Amino acid sequence: MCDTFVALGSATHNDNVIFGKNSDRPYNERQPVVYIPKQKHNSNIDLKCTYISIPQVEETNAVLLSKPSWMWGAEMGANEYNVVIGNEAIFDTREPMWPPSLLGMDLVRLALERSSTAAQAVHLMCDLLETYGQGGFCAENDPTLMYHNSFLIADPTEAWVLETVGKWWIGQQIKDGIRNISNRLSIRSEYTISRNGIIDYAIEQGYCDNEAEFDFAKCFTKGTYLEPSRYSREGWGKHLLRSNYGEISPIIMMEILRDHFGGICMHGAFRTTASQVSNISKNKAVHWMTGSPHPCISFFKPFVVPTQKDPSECDIFELREKFNLLENDSLVQELHSLEQELIQNIEQKLQTDNWSIADIQYLTQEALNRELSLISL
Ligand SMILES: [Zn+2]
Repeated sequence: MCDTFVALGSATHNDNVIFGKNSDRPYNERQPVVYIPKQKHNSNIDLKCTYISIPQVEETNAVLLSKPSWMWGAEMGANEYNVVIGNEAIFDTREPMWPPSLLGMDLVRLALERSSTAAQAVHLMCDLLETYGQGGFCAENDPTLMYHNSFLIADPTEAWVLETVGKWWIGQQIKDGIRNISNRLSIRSEYTISRNGIIDYAIEQGYCDNEAEFDFAKCFTKGTYLEPSRYSREGWGKHLLRSNYGEISPIIMMEILRDHFGGICMHGAFRTTASQVSNISKNKAVHWMTGSPHPCISFFKPFVVPTQKDPSECDIFELREKFNLLENDSLVQELHSLEQELIQNIEQKLQTDNWSIADIQYLTQEALNRELSLISL
């Protein structure tokens, strides 16, 4: 599951890029926020991803990740160049999900560690996909959950939707406006880039009869391809983006992630395990991360990259689970008031030259401490 959103330029309240994702995962999985500083590597030693090893690069970027604790990869995150990425599970595809190779979540982390723009991230993911493919179990100790991936990638100037099936991929560049992806292929015949030979392959496999009929989503979806209903998570998410067009801010993106009418804030055996909202402009970005289940009752905390220390050192998963069971509305209100105050404070700083990374690092620490003290009852 999952929903990922982006608003750019004329869709936003301040011409920034606003990105948001809810990561919907199995109920018991923990997904802390993890910070990994810039690092130099011995490139003779291979990098062990979740299931396979691949050559390492000499240097990796500083990255902030929202990362299921058992796997190498990440559901979403940001890097020091203000590139952000989120993935989506695509279940109904015509290509095999086996053998284990790279997971979509590995591709998210690899691209954040190795790219300085969204376009670079897209090309890197496509190269890795063509070389290694994708596949393997996507939840811990669960042989039933396997999927391919779509991705939403953004930087201060543009966004990309990258949709993949096996080793096949197609990409769409977005320079302005809104876009959201859920658990379905969505790129039809309007695309910017694609893997060489994709149309010939689709014709050979009998997915379409000729070049004029090539429609990526229809060709590569297993079974009948249907448009999403207005009341699906994808349809309702699009409606919420449209109805806020021109005004989209981090606060509105958080409201969208907290929506229950369309089921975007997911509760149940699969639930929203963690959420991210990023506000990105040239040279400045703030990433609001929950690191805890259910955005409706969680606290979005501000992070910058680089940050001072690894926030997973104060992993609040167990405390949060106890706190959530209390259903203490007044404490949730208190956390949300604090969140509003922080957003206003930081948004003002973002719009002026009164901006220092050290200031935000201080506010991050304050926010983590306040949440910890409020939920440690
Ligand atoms: Zn909720």
